Amino acid sequence: MEKIRTLRGFRDILGEDIGKFKRIEDASRCYLDLLGFAEIATPVLESTDLFIRSIGDTTDIVEKEMFTFTDLGGDSLTLRPEATAGVVRAYLQAGMYAKERISKIFTIGPMFRHERPQKGRFRQFHQVDVEVFGTDDPFIDAELLWMISLLLADLGVKRYSMEVNSVGCKLCREEFRTVLVSFFETRKDRLCEDCLRRLYKNPLRIFDCKNAQCIEVNSESPLLFDYLCTECGSHFNSFLAYMNSFGVPVTVNKRLVRGLDYYTKTVFEITSDELGAQKAFTAGGRYDNLVEEMGGPKTPAIGFAIGMERLALIVGGGERPRKPVFFFAYLGEKAKAYLAPMVKAFVDQGLPIRYSYEGKSLKSQMRYADGLGADFVLILGDEEINRKAIVVRNMKDKDQFELPLDPSGLAVELKQRFHKE
Ligand SMILES: [Zn+2]
Ligand SMILES: [Zn+2]
Repeated sequence: MEKIRTLRGFRDILGEDIGKFKRIEDASRCYLDLLGFAEIATPVLESTDLFIRSIGDTTDIVEKEMFTFTDLGGDSLTLRPEATAGVVRAYLQAGMYAKERISKIFTIGPMFRHERPQKGRFRQFHQVDVEVFGTDDPFIDAELLWMISLLLADLGVKRYSMEVNSVGCKLCREEFRTVLVSFFETRKDRLCEDCLRRLYKNPLRIFDCKNAQCIEVNSESPLLFDYLCTECGSHFNSFLAYMNSFGVPVTVNKRLVRGLDYYTKTVFEITSDELGAQKAFTAGGRYDNLVEEMGGPKTPAIGFAIGMERLALIVGGGERPRKPVFFFAYLGEKAKAYLAPMVKAFVDQGLPIRYSYEGKSLKSQMRYADGLGADFVLILGDEEINRKAIVVRNMKDKDQFELPLDPSGLAVELKQRFHKE
């Protein structure tokens, strides 16, 4: 019979890969917790309208990349292509704006986009998504980038670049739009069909086009950065000053735009040359109007997402220090009677414990323990039971010693000796 396989662009995550994911998640939670972020989880399936309204209907994501389908009741549903829209919906639905002045929120989970699969890109991918609601202070913009730098250092990622830009507010974009439309009007013959359609509807989106000729036209276009209003200009300068006081270097890339309509002021991308052509693995920005546009009160906000698949490609080797692993080798039925008390005692103390189910010879249990990466093997046979003792063997230096045969006392003793926090 033909075996059923994963769908194109989807994959199972196992072995070393899931280990890297776990490291990314653990380190993220650690720094997010230190800086007062609360975790939430939102559904992967939402109403299609949510994404059309938040991401914008002329964006690549909404036009080409969403997994959208009609359910049995005739409603249009979409697997979330990014996290911000759902987090904003949850923020409004729970009335968080009425309960706290500033909400710092994060969520970790899968997103879905119907893209052409390529290196480190999958149709189901995973993100650490971080959002802050309730302040437009540029300090928080800098705080987020500084936090990412801590996380990357922890994960052993050394070679990366933080590119920043400001895409302004409604006011400065209004003026720039006119400039941009007249620029592209004189170059209409070089634009693709998509871009021609976007020219009057949403000319800023032309910057996202991946068509080679459009990219060339884009590289000659005027810069939004040069049309920033006074407020946006000084917001960006304060942000740069805070980055400086955090001691985190950033590069201003005046051509940096993000492929979503909702961004305002600060936008950023973190890239690594080790990732090839699609080199960004973290991106985000400020979105001061989105909450209001989604039916909430006027609430400035900023957020970013880390692409876990892409970050996993550049996470350095070297495990975090782990707890020593113990293996209980029992010989005979009398010794097996100690299996349950021993496992209970070790788990009670938070110590990793392994064992075989069949018993078998000492030699075969030692081989099994070795294969499982055990640091210590606890050996118990009839002889040891008679002496009311248990042998503890260090697998690294083959040194061994005896301790009294009392499971809970033993676990406490071994924890004190070998498990340093
Ligand atoms: Zn402005
Ligand atoms: Zn184009």
